[in-house]
Amino acid sequence: MKQYTYIMVKPDGVEAGLVREIEKRIKNAGLEIVEFDVQKLNGEILDEHYAHVKDRDFYPEMKAFMLSNFVVPMIVYGENAVAKMRELMGPTNSNEAPAGTIRGDYGDKEIINRNVIHGADSPENAIIEIERFFKIKLEQPK
Ligand code: GDP
Repeated sequence: MKQYTYIMVKPDGVEAGLVREIEKRIKNAGLEIVEFDVQKLNGEILDEHYAHVKDRDFYPEMKAFMLSNFVVPMIVYGENAVAKMRELMGPTNSNEAPAGTIRGDYGDKEIINRNVIHGADSPENAIIEIERFFKIKLEQPK
């Protein structure tokens, strides 16, 4: 089933010049980047996006990091795009991410929040996140 997902290269990925490499990996996985942006986030949108970790002790440091530089939000489309992107990214903790995954290859092995890339965890959340960052109301294909 073809679907949309929401992807965001975090400030560490942008600073390390990884946007083109990530784009290449997405295309090589047979997925299409249908929209692409460069944004400097504000605290409000970040608190909303990370509501599920907002009360964790690591959040203040993570928030400062996420606001420290530009991010590159993308809308990615294709067969099983949500799961395929999560596979390309690897697990949250870059230390546990296998080589060949984006986080395994480029994530910070000590500071968990510096894990290069965000990807929506479900087709439903992808639609919510696309609307949050692109102000576009999409529907997943039926
Ligand atoms: P994701 O879906 O793989 O991004 O993981 P989560 O939704 O669980 O967490 C959101 C983000 O919070 C992660 O991508 C990390 O940047 C950060 N994060 C999660 N757990 C930790 C942690 O234990 N320590 C730190 N420093 N950051 C974390």
